[in-house]
Amino acid sequence: MEHFFIMGIADRLKLLLSELPQGVDVVATSKTHPNEAILEAYSIGQRIFGENKVQELLVKHDTLPKDIEWHFIGHLQTNKVKQLVPFVTLIHGVDSVRLLEEINKQAQKSSRVVDVLLQIHIAQEESKFGFSDEELHQLIYGDLLTKLTHVRVVGLMGMASNTNDLAVVEREFSHIKQLYDLCKATLGEEQITKLSIGMSGDYKVAIQYGGNLIRVGSMIFGERDYH
Ligand SMILES: *Cc1c(COP(=O)(O)O)cnc(C)c1O
Repeated sequence: MEHFFIMGIADRLKLLLSELPQGVDVVATSKTHPNEAILEAYSIGQRIFGENKVQELLVKHDTLPKDIEWHFIGHLQTNKVKQLVPFVTLIHGVDSVRLLEEINKQAQKSSRVVDVLLQIHIAQEESKFGFSDEELHQLIYGDLLTKLTHVRVVGLMGMASNTNDLAVVEREFSHIKQLYDLCKATLGEEQITKLSIGMSGDYKVAIQYGGNLIRVGSMIFGERDYH
């Protein structure tokens, strides 16, 4: 595997793409990496990039090609929604009704309908964000979503526990897949099309469990360097 580590970003991305089944899209998770790294992935056709900090995303959006589809994958504070809404393609981590309402309000001002994923708390770690099963049920059986005319829920997002125990990861992905199927059944097959699960360490498992939007960072761009 040694050759893997001397490959560049474009080569690593090509290798990843060549392994993926039809219908699975990669969110190239470029947080902390510079524009040059993003442009290298862009040069071989990658257009979907994911960031988890609003400020960093705004700067990158301003300085990089306009046909990039920016996905926000982090924990979003309501007071930052306004800055994202004019251009963001998909917000992955919507984890409260308050946030849904704020996105709706800002999207209305921008005359947009913004696509979002509901984040589900599937991991054992308390620290992770997301709706519980119960809260999700309330949303999909209630009438709030139909009232929020400027936000469109198009699927679910989840993060598995950070563990080497494959059985735990499988159980968590299987769980979110069941909820995803329930959302399809209640909100409609045409609307609910995206299941965002899987990162560098577990994307293969995620795909087995129906993940069709994988958020891959370090496997493409290398390790992140947080200062
Ligand atoms: C950073 C990040 C990823 C990508 O993680 P890697 O392990 O580098 O692939 C995926 N999802 C979220 C929400 C992230 O913040």
